[in-house]
Amino acid sequence: MLKIINLTCGYGTKIVLYDISFNINRGEFLGIIGPNGSGKTTLLRALSRAIAPMRGEILIEGKNIRTAPSKELAKDIAVVSQNPPLNHMSVEEFILLGRIPHYQGFQFFETKKDLEIAERSMDLTGIFKLKSQPLSQISGGERQLVLIARALAQEPRVLLLDEPTAHLDIAHQVGILDLIKRLNKEFGLTVIIVLHDLNLASEYCQELLLINKGRIHKMGRPDEVLDYQTIEEVYKTIVVVEKNPLSSKPYILLVSGEERQKRGKEA
Ligand code: ADP
Repeated sequence: MLKIINLTCGYGTKIVLYDISFNINRGEFLGIIGPNGSGKTTLLRALSRAIAPMRGEILIEGKNIRTAPSKELAKDIAVVSQNPPLNHMSVEEFILLGRIPHYQGFQFFETKKDLEIAERSMDLTGIFKLKSQPLSQISGGERQLVLIARALAQEPRVLLLDEPTAHLDIAHQVGILDLIKRLNKEFGLTVIIVLHDLNLASEYCQELLLINKGRIHKMGRPDEVLDYQTIEEVYKTIVVVEKNPLSSKPYILLVSGEERQKRGKEA
């Protein structure tokens, strides 16, 4: 569905991603992981055309995103960013913005269909009760759901998410990822998600793309990517990798400096 071919991109003259190539199948749930500053957000920005490649191409079903009309691209790809606005717009008004790419020529207001789709998005994300609340008066977890609902109102085929669980407690982290997984399974939505929590990435993603210093370090299933040697090499920290006793997915345990010192002495 998506082909990324020799993508090199960055900001001004600074190169952040070097010669990245990979494919994403329809209905896939791909996690992008890697240390801070490795280029994960930049890759999402390139996929959503927020920044232009310096070299290389991104194709969606064979069409180059560089030349796709904005309205058409918005029907294919929706982005759930990290920072929702904090203004007095109501939740419903904000979600309806997701319908704009579907407006017909000379349409200035939403139609009945747009309202129905916005309602369905609010139902799916469990935020219908917040419909009339201003964005400034809802919690961080609810705000993430509102952003997802707006992206769904766009009726995209690919959903790009940038750390949607950052700053959320564990119940909200699992709630958001369960929802995204459901959308992926039930509606066949292709998901590309940046996650910095390796355990969540392991548990939810079908495939992982590990980026290090702007290059692909490894791509594969969680059990192929998340071995302790790879994690230690890329993140420069000691870890222990076990299996989650319920899911059998890799589970990463961190090792403190104190513990490292103790073990060092024993060895
Ligand atoms: P990650 O998401 O993996 O933490 P980013 O893609 O945000 O990494 O950043 C990769 C590199 O690009 C970093 O060195 C960062 O400083 C730089 N960068 C990010 N955004 C900009 C920008 N708007 N202008 C210039 N440099 C940027």
